[in-house]
Amino acid sequence: MMKEDLRSLDHTQLQDVITLLGEKKYRADQIYRWLHVQGVQTYAAMTNVPAKLTEQLDAKYMIYPVRQETMLESRYDGTRKYLFSLHDGNVIESVFMRYEHGNAVCISSQVGCNMGCRFCASTIDGKVRDLTPGEMLGQIYAVMEDTGEKVSHVVVMGSGEPLENYVNLLTFLKMLTDEYGQNISQRNVTVSTCGLCDRIKTLADEQLQITLAISLHAPDDAKRKELMPVANRYSLPELIDACRYYFDKTGRRITFEYALIRGENDSEKDAETLAALVRGMNCHINLIPVNPVRERNYQQSDKNAVLAFKNKLEKNHINVTIRREMGRDIDGACGQLRRRHLAHSGDA
Ligand code: SAH
Repeated sequence: MMKEDLRSLDHTQLQDVITLLGEKKYRADQIYRWLHVQGVQTYAAMTNVPAKLTEQLDAKYMIYPVRQETMLESRYDGTRKYLFSLHDGNVIESVFMRYEHGNAVCISSQVGCNMGCRFCASTIDGKVRDLTPGEMLGQIYAVMEDTGEKVSHVVVMGSGEPLENYVNLLTFLKMLTDEYGQNISQRNVTVSTCGLCDRIKTLADEQLQITLAISLHAPDDAKRKELMPVANRYSLPELIDACRYYFDKTGRRITFEYALIRGENDSEKDAETLAALVRGMNCHINLIPVNPVRERNYQQSDKNAVLAFKNKLEKNHINVTIRREMGRDIDGACGQLRRRHLAHSGDA
């Protein structure tokens, strides 16, 4: 039988496990601190916990590892891209970025992805499985261990669709932001979705203070359907409606991500249509020159088109920034490191 995942238990659940074993509650606090403040991945590292107790735990619970396989560091900005392996041999990617306001980690929420966005490398082989809360946290802890630095910001913007892995995502968010673990402010956490409207509304009802990022990438349904199969399930008016609901419930400004693809979605007319779509919303648009993926033939918009697009939005009084590209020299695009790894090991 598979052992249960010790790192996916929140503080209260761990206390229950420990007290059921006839131990004092403070033992749970000690163990939780080792796991979620220190980020250790073995029972042996918990030096102030009696061996008898860790042996009892070990019989039923495993600390499912997130092991560093590869790390690439950008020569330009210190961005680090990681390939991590999991207990079942699957591999996932995470990214570490240094900003003026602190260190950020971008984590994956699933192994692979089912959403099928045409410009994205993560989805080429579909989804293998969801990640557990412990595996999502484990990516952050492994990065902290490698860099020796604190992490203040987390973005769930790596491979996978987080709102499809909803229950695990919520446990992860709770454990990341409550007082017992890393204690990261909810305001410093961003979750990015391709736009699962029902789940956006459910998330809104949780009333968290996290930032919701929406992968928009097109100004109208016809163009969006060309790029993102999810547009066949939810129309743009439904998506905008869900975003308004999120803002009304949480007071948090929505971020829209828009990858500019040459000749597909980057004309001034597209900018005009986009401006009309989000008019009157409290939002921010992040323009991203699309990252060319070897398996796809989309190309980045040229600099002038990007600037013209931005100007057009600004003329319409819309908050817009062009995302600074980080780690250009280390395979920035979502899912590319993993694909290369799979290709070399003969699985793809
Ligand atoms: N499934 C979620 C989160 C993972 S994708 C979502 O769709 O938001 C993280 C972000 O990277 C999304 O905005 C996605 O559209 C974008 N992305 C994926 N491939 C890209 C590429 N080749 N160039 C630029 N952005 C890309």
